Parts: sequence; structure tokens; C-alpha cells
Amino acid sequence: MSDKPPLRLEDIPVTNMTAYLLDKIRLYGDKVAMVDATTEKTTTYSELVTRIERATSGLQAIGVMKDDAIGVLSPNHPDYLVTFYACALVGATLQPISPMYTKDDLAKGLRDCNTKFLFTVSALLPKVQEATQGLEHIKVLLYGEAGGDYETFESLLDPGHAPYRTPELDPRTSVAALMSSSGTTGFPKAVCISHYAIVANTIQQMCAGLNSDKDTFVTFFPFFHALGLYMVCFVGHSLGARIVIMPRFDFETFLRLIEKYKPTNLQLVPPIMVLLAKSPKVSEYDLSSVSQIACGAAPLSKEVEDLVKEKLKLPCIFQGYGMTEVGVTHLNGRGEFRYKSVGKLLPLTEMKIVDVETGKPVGPGQEGEIWIRGPQVCGGYLGLPEQTRELFTNDGWVKTGDIGYEDEDGYLFVVDRLKELIKYKAFQVAPATLEDILLRHDAIADVGVVGMPDVEAGELPRAYVVRKQGREASEEEIRKFVDGPCHRFRRTMKPGGSPHEAAGRGGVLKEIPRTASGKILRKSLRELARALAAKQ
Ligand code: AMP
Repeated sequence: MSDKPPLRLEDIPVTNMTAYLLDKIRLYGDKVAMVDATTEKTTTYSELVTRIERATSGLQAIGVMKDDAIGVLSPNHPDYLVTFYACALVGATLQPISPMYTKDDLAKGLRDCNTKFLFTVSALLPKVQEATQGLEHIKVLLYGEAGGDYETFESLLDPGHAPYRTPELDPRTSVAALMSSSGTTGFPKAVCISHYAIVANTIQQMCAGLNSDKDTFVTFFPFFHALGLYMVCFVGHSLGARIVIMPRFDFETFLRLIEKYKPTNLQLVPPIMVLLAKSPKVSEYDLSSVSQIACGAAPLSKEVEDLVKEKLKLPCIFQGYGMTEVGVTHLNGRGEFRYKSVGKLLPLTEMKIVDVETGKPVGPGQEGEIWIRGPQVCGGYLGLPEQTRELFTNDGWVKTGDIGYEDEDGYLFVVDRLKELIKYKAFQVAPATLEDILLRHDAIADVGVVGMPDVEAGELPRAYVVRKQGREASEEEIRKFVDGPCHRFRRTMKPGGSPHEAAGRGGVLKEIPRTASGKILRKSLRELARALAAKQ
């Protein structure tokens, strides 16, 4: 993507991800590394180095050992990243957890990952206290002000702690982060991301040349998602960029921060593009600093893309493609761009598009499932060997569950999804989670949930149920039943209602289409849903 010699595998250091980061950021001195969008407090790169090193000593002082899982249940803020970098330096594994998780999800996550320490904020303490009943061995620490008996993150930074020691680890297998993803099927799972995968993907992304050390990022991507934690922040810090960190997304705050901090590049997801395209608020702020937008994580409609280009006077929108399990694999780069495509393969990444029925590679222009191989792919799902085997082929390709085609020049176009995942406002919604809840209703015999296109949300879940013989249940009743245990998602998207509102709007069927082995035939169900929706 530039005149530089092509990236070679030997160019990717096999090292602890934070050792790699420290080597770079020690050189950035007094440049600003982070701004807390809430308090406007800045952290320079030299201060970031000090905080990482002190936090590492502090973690060792409280007994954090290599391979321990350290949960973080918190909105985004600068010390979240310091925790991530310090955990990695001490050889521990960060387990970012969505603050929208219910107490049951949280308890399950803590058990599944054998979490030893948990960082949180005082507002989330009641949920933590409920979820850790029976898990009293977990040491809970607080960001921000001291609260009750809890130690704080700040206390870890005491310069009196003994100097840290970095343990020996194998960066290719040692897990730096456990990220949540439902993959191609089933419930959310913990994806093992190694130090090496993060460093490799950072270097690969930098090759696309979309960003530089002069950049300011204003980011709202949640740190419990790969996009926020390392695809944007670790890459940004490795480059020497300034990162303005929003605790959560709020459109007007986002616009105000753009006016104030004048980023040249924005990293967005399609639902925010919809807001930029359609909200009258946009004209109230000066967004003239923005000369580039990169967008990924879900399909972007042509109409929205064109409206944003026109509104912000941009020549193009750079789309990219990736997945928690495979990192970022495709980006449109400067000088190498194709409209509607998600770009070309990043260096050292291989792709194969295969016929869904035969598994045989197809030619340019022909659609098939996208398979990926490269140094940035994950190590599999924690404690789930069978699901891990299903994710990979025997020769190491990850089956993404996405359908796409490549043109003659190597640009990828993502056209559909084979897997059951629903993307609500770029957040993952696993149909299995909703089906599990619906099946607990005593009038429901069977259920299938599929995603239906929606302009604002991207997709909304829609549920079809089979009633138990002789049982009645109104749509309203079922909807309420789903919304109770699902309020974690409600909170995701306030204001505006629940993604599960649509769940009750599916309907009643005689039977859910299933394969002989009992798997839901989601393609058939989606076709049925489309046909029924057209009639409504
Ligand atoms: P996640 O693991 O949450 O990042 O979700 C990954 C999934 O998001 C991919 O497998 C795709 O289904 C979808 N996705 C990511 N980027 C794009 C894109 N540019 N266009 C369409 N779908 C995308």
C-alpha cells in the first residue's frame, strides 16, 4: 500500500505486547497520549510509561501472577488502558467485560475465565457484589475514589512498590486478552488473543498508512470490544497519536469533542454514520477538521455513505473488515481504494473464498464463505475445544461465517452473513441468548431468532415461536418476558428502546425450520421472515 518494502513475518517481533509498546512510546516524551473526555485531564506519553510501570509493580505487589485473568467491568477511561498494558507486562490476561452484562452473565464470565482480580467503578459495585457471591476469592479493586474496604487502582501506583519483573512467556500462545464473541454459532465465548496477534495486527494495520503520529482519535468504541481496546487504542498509542476517550457514546458530546479536539480522522461504525448523515445536530458544530473517515464492524449502506461524504465534503469513506477472531484483515488504504469494498488484504494475511456447499475455492467475482489465515488470528475459545475445532480448518484457516467475493484486483466485498450473529448497532447479539430466554416461557415449545435489516440499527432481532399445544401467550406478554432478562441490551441503546422490542414482533409458526440434526435453518427462517414482513 506504499513504496516501502513488503512486510515480512520476520518484521513482527515475537514479544510481550507491552514491551513492544514501551519501546515505541518512550520516544514520544511529552506528547499527549490520552485525554479523558469527561474530566479533560491529559496524560502525556512519559506519564503513560510511568503509570504502566508503576501499575505493573502494583499488580505484582497484590499477587497478580502470570496467566491470571484480570476482569475489568467499567466504562471506558484512560486507566482501563493502563490496566491492560500493565496486565500484559506482568504476563496476566485482561478480561474486558461489558458493563451491560446482567449479574448472571457476569457471574458466568467470572467462573468461565477463572477470574482472580476484578477492576470496576463504584456505580457497578452492587452488581459485582451480587455476581461474586460464592466467588469470594476474587479481589475487587476500584477505579476512581476509594470506596469502603476496596483498594483502588490509584493505590497500585504507589512508587514504593518493588520494581516489577517480567515473566518469561511465549507471545504466540500467551493470552493478552480474552474478548467476548459468539463466533459463528451459539452463546458468547471468550476468544483468546495472544500478545503476538495484537502486535502483528497493529503492524499490519499501520502498513495501510491511514493514520500517523499527528492524529487525534476521538473514541467511543467500548473497550470490551476488540475495536476499542486494541484495534484503535493500542494501534493509536503505538503510532504516538492522541486519544480522546469517551466513557460511552453520546452523539452531541461526540460532535462537541470533534469541534474541540479537531481530529482529522474519524473511526466509525455504520449506526454513527447514520446519525452523521441524518441528524440536524451535525450542522451546529464545526467538523471541518475531519478529512478522513474509516468505517467497519457492520455493513454500510450506499445511501448513508454518500450522504456523509456530501455533508462532510469527503472524497471517500475508507471501509475495513475484521472480526474478533481474526483481527482486522482488510482495509482500503490511501491510493488503493474501491467504492463499496472493504478493501484489500493486509500484508501477511491470506484469504480464501470457498463455495459454501463444496468447500472448494471460487474465482474472482464469485460469492462464497470468507476464510482467513494470518499471524493475527486468535488461538480459539477458552475452555471450548470443540467450538475451537469448528472455527478452524485442519490447516489453520478461520471460517468467518461471512459471505463475500473478491474482484479481479483483490478488493473484497462483504455481501451477507452465513453465521447466525445479529449485529445491533455494531454490537453482537447472539440469537442463542434470546432463544434461551424465550424457551423458558411456559407457552413456548420452540423458537428461532433471526436478524432483520433496519436502517438505524443495522439489524434488529426477530423471534418466531411455536406455541405449546393448548397454550396462549400474547405478543405483548412474550415481549415483556424477553425484555426482563435482556435489559443489558436495553441499556446499550438508550434512548430509543430495546433491540428486543422487535423480538416479539416475529410471529407464531407451526414449526421452526430445522435440519435433520436439529439445527435451526436460519437461512430459511430469514427468507420466511422477509416474506412475512413484506406482507405486513
Ligand atoms: P465482531 O467480532 O464483533 O467484530 O464482528 C465481526 C463481524 O462483523 C464480521 O464477521 C462481519 O459479519 C461483521 N463485519 C465487520 N466488518 C464489516 C464490514 N465492513 N462490512 C460488513 N460486515 C462487517
